[in-house]
Parts: sequence; structure tokens; C-alpha cells
Amino acid sequence: MINKKVFGTHEWADKTANFINGCKHDCKYCYSKEMAIRFKRKTPENWKEEEVRNIQLKKKFSKHSGTFMYPSSHDIHPEHLEENIQYLEHLLEPGNKVLIVTKPHLECITEICGKFNNYKQKILFRFTIGSSNSEILKFWEPGAPDFKERLESVKYAYNNNFNTSISCEPMLDNNIEDLIQIILPFVTDAIWLGKANFLLRRLKLNGINDFETIKRATQLIEWQKDENILILYKKYKLNNKIKWKESIKKIVGIELPLIKGLDV
Ligand code: SF4
Repeated sequence: MINKKVFGTHEWADKTANFINGCKHDCKYCYSKEMAIRFKRKTPENWKEEEVRNIQLKKKFSKHSGTFMYPSSHDIHPEHLEENIQYLEHLLEPGNKVLIVTKPHLECITEICGKFNNYKQKILFRFTIGSSNSEILKFWEPGAPDFKERLESVKYAYNNNFNTSISCEPMLDNNIEDLIQIILPFVTDAIWLGKANFLLRRLKLNGINDFETIKRATQLIEWQKDENILILYKKYKLNNKIKWKESIKKIVGIELPLIKGLDV
């Protein structure tokens, strides 16, 4: 059998785990929102209303040899923190490895670190931060925490000896060097860089077509054209803490993995 090239969440983990429909962060470029609208589970207007799927929440997991990415189609928001803790417990108790991917609220990270202190070896945090500029984060991710809170969350996890990594996908400005410089000292694992995929199509399907967003999206696409990505790659290619998502790998000539969840 020929293995297919791996991309998306499978670059990081071979399994995903979720129990909520919708996400209060309401990012304009959200892939999960696009899918939920396409399959009529949600509308552009009610995506930000989170609905707990109780059957999923109660699910018991068995031990899996790979890694679970959690969550992959919603986020961890204070509104459902208790349920998120419960679900995380179900994942971790059998001995599973969990990649926690979130635009972090300090309240949630403090609680998770306290509750799962004994599971440090099984947890890798991946904090999503696409810019060090809070105005830019607010524009693209209106319901998510500002830069200061995300940075505080990274520091909190790092100072409590958890393994930390960053997802800078999508990169949201043309000054990613600034973000890397600020955040790198608190990263034990890696900073992943990736482009904004299918941005105009996704905005359209997510019901966003105002002039300002389209203008900024067009600018972002221009910033992420191949020649600029190659300059960025040249700058960091020898830094072993910088990793490249599929959208960049294919521009700079890195082979895509054939096995899910290698996280390389
Ligand atoms: S945090 Fe993730 S799931 Fe939530 S809206 Fe943003 S991209 Fe979508």
C-alpha cells in the first residue's frame, strides 16, 4: 500500500479528539467553521455558540500508541472549562499522549497545569499565536485572548515545567521574527510556522466579505507569496526549534511525511 502524504492536523498527531460544536473564539479563517457550515451543523451567525456533545464528553478512551491532538475543531474556553478538564482526564488517565492545541486563556492553562501536574510527561502544549500584535489578533480572532494573555499562558506552562510549543499557523502579519524573538525563550519543543490556507475561499464560506477583511486578507496573501516564504525559511532553516507546516514545506522543497503524527 502506498502511504499518502500527510498534512493538516495529521502532521502533528495521528488522532484528534473533540466534544464541542462551535467555538467562541470565532476566528475569521476557521477551517472547522467552514466545515460546520458546509455540513449544516452550524451557520456563520451561530458558530460562536458552543454546544457540548454529551455523548462525546462521556466517552472513555483506551490506551493508544500514538498522540491525540485535543482539541482540533473547537478550543478550550473558560465557559466550558470544567467539561474540558473532565474530557482531558478521560484522555490522559489510560496513559495517552495528548497535544493540547489552544489559543490560551490564562485561567484555563492555570487550571490544566494544576490539575494535570502528574501527567507532564504525557502533555505537550501547542499555543496558537499568529502575531505579537494584539490588534491583529483581535481582528482575525475576535473572541480569543490578546497577545499579553497568550504570552502569560506560555510562560505559566513553561515555568511549571510543562513542555511547550507554538503554532504560528496562520502567520497573521509580516513581522513573525518579532514573535519568534519574544516567545522562543519559553518554548521547550518547537515553533511551527504556516501560511493562511485558502484564505479568500474560507472567508467567503464563513460569511465574511466586508471591505476591510478582504483588504487585509489580500495583503496577507501578498506577504506570504513564495519569494517571501523563501526569505523566511533561509533565515530560520538552521534553527532546530523552528518547524514548517505543509504550506511552507512544499514551497521550500521539504518532503512531506508519509506517516501521521510524526510532528516533524
Ligand atoms: S480557535 Fe480554532 S476552532 Fe475556534 S474559531 Fe479559532 S480556528 Fe476555529
